[in-house]
Amino acid sequence: MKSLWNDAEAAQFPGDLGQRIYTSRLLGRDPALVLHGGGNTSVKIAERDLVGREETILYVKGSGGDLAKIDEAGFSPVRMERLLALAELPALPDPVMVNELRTHMTRASAPTPSVEAILHAILPFKFVDHTHADAVVTLTNSPDAAARVREVYGDELVVIPYVMPGFDLARACAERFAAEAKPKTIGMILMNHGIFSFGATARESYERMIALVGRAEAHLDAKGAWSLPVPPAAAHAAPFPRREVTSLRGAISRAAGFPMVLAVHDDARSLAFARRPDVAVVSQQGPATPQHAVYTKRVPMIARDVRAYAAAYRDYLDTYLGSEASSRMDAAPRILLDPQWGLCAFGRSPNEARLAADMYRHDIDIISRASAHGTYRAAPPAAIAQAEYEYGGFAVPGHD
Ligand code: ZN
Repeated sequence: MKSLWNDAEAAQFPGDLGQRIYTSRLLGRDPALVLHGGGNTSVKIAERDLVGREETILYVKGSGGDLAKIDEAGFSPVRMERLLALAELPALPDPVMVNELRTHMTRASAPTPSVEAILHAILPFKFVDHTHADAVVTLTNSPDAAARVREVYGDELVVIPYVMPGFDLARACAERFAAEAKPKTIGMILMNHGIFSFGATARESYERMIALVGRAEAHLDAKGAWSLPVPPAAAHAAPFPRREVTSLRGAISRAAGFPMVLAVHDDARSLAFARRPDVAVVSQQGPATPQHAVYTKRVPMIARDVRAYAAAYRDYLDTYLGSEASSRMDAAPRILLDPQWGLCAFGRSPNEARLAADMYRHDIDIISRASAHGTYRAAPPAAIAQAEYEYGGFAVPGHD
């Protein structure tokens, strides 16, 4: 992983917010760091308000924004004083937190701040970068993740066990950071989720991110778990069986309760994964990060039996969310791994099917590398069910 910093380009982005925009776009350019609106960044800037009072404002990525294309309007300016006061509360339900974030901005037209705003606020650094880097997620999705993270990073990073993003995660980070940060701490690792880096300048924070992620890549590479074997050229089984695919799409639409679009990816990598002898084990542990489940569901379907899949999925939703929350969600698969067809992605629209496929292809790399390194282990099903519910928009908006 290489720094994309370029002095001439950077000079076109004056000021702290300008520099923040520039390096946010650099992060957004690399899908191995952030995917489809994932990740977020911030900068803390002292300003004078209209009546002459000085205050510090956290400019944090707005919810729904994309780092690759972010500009000034994509950042939500939130008053630091309020964020730090909120961080002291013992508990804060997420809908109340979102209301607080929205009502303490200095620009009424700004987007809703990222749900990770309080977490950015409590970190005592001017610039904060957060990504869901594939290499880091690979390292943390294993039963002995804590030991591996220590081996790679020593005490340069504070390690946070998986907690769903929102107020509880901000609290957990505030406590751990205060207790564990050392003078040489330059970041924080969130199990089954991603990584934070900090710095005094945009460049320092960004380049620390690149260096930290690079160390995870180098570690996996040294263990022979980074360069994936190149699969043999796709040997597509048969001409595409239109009738079978149509009836499958119908069955999945019926299970979902709404029409579904299907996209088939029969590239060599997808086919090779669908044909792995251990696909029934490695694909059924859960996605690389719980948030992916919104588009991919917790597990792909691996046989063309929609009814059995939906019944098992309904059981999982009922078990971890209760029947009332479960009843608001559908139990139809979003991904089918088929040894003949490869990776089939389903969604309510072509865009949803594309997002599901993109996320699952990252999961394929992460699962393949983690399995080459040891054992792949996703976050527990309860955490994934909760993320599916909340990120899926069944609770509060803004979980990204
Ligand atoms: Zn995140």
